[in-house]
Amino acid sequence: MKLLDEILEYNEKFVEGKEYEKFEAGKLPKKKLLILSCMDTRLVELLPKSMNLENGDAKVLKNPGAVVSNPYDSIMRGILVGVYALQCDEMIIVGHKDCGMSSVNTTDLVETMKSRGINPENFDTVKDAGVDVHQFLAGFDNVEESVTHSVKTVKDHPLMPGDVPVHGLVIDPKTGKLDTVVNGY
Ligand code: ZN
Repeated sequence: MKLLDEILEYNEKFVEGKEYEKFEAGKLPKKKLLILSCMDTRLVELLPKSMNLENGDAKVLKNPGAVVSNPYDSIMRGILVGVYALQCDEMIIVGHKDCGMSSVNTTDLVETMKSRGINPENFDTVKDAGVDVHQFLAGFDNVEESVTHSVKTVKDHPLMPGDVPVHGLVIDPKTGKLDTVVNGY
C-alpha cells in the first residue's frame, strides 16, 4: 500500500473511533509560548514531551535547523503573527545536537540536484531571482552560535516588541536534555 493510502486508511479509523478527543484544545496557546525548532525526525514527539508540552500549549514553528536566517522570511512572519495575533508572550528557539543542517555541503547538494535531473539552466533561474544557491542552502557550523544568532535576529527585529523574552536552547535528540544557550529574561 502506498504511504498516502496507508495514512488515509488509518485516519478514517482515527476519526471514527473519536481518538481526537484526547487532543482537543483551543486555538490560542495555553502557555502563551512560541517555539521554533528543527524539522528533525527525532524531535517530532521527543521535543514536546521533554518540555512537558501538550496539544494546545504552544505555537510551534519548524524549519531545517531552527534557524531564523532572514528577518523577512516566513519564519519571522510566523513569529510576529504568534506574538501579535495569537497571544504568545514568550519564545524559545530550540536547536539540537547532531543537526543535519550542521553538516550541509552545498556543493554536494547542487551536484545531487543535477544528478536527480535538475536542468543546469535552472540554476541560472535561481541566480536571476537574486539568490546565491549556496547561501540559500547553507546550514551552520556550530549549533550554539546558530541559536544565539537566531535569537538576536528575532530580538533585533524592528517589529518585535521588547517585552517578549526570547530564549535559546539546544536539545539532545537522544535524551531530550535541554541546555540553555540564551536566557532571555
Ligand atoms: Zn536539525
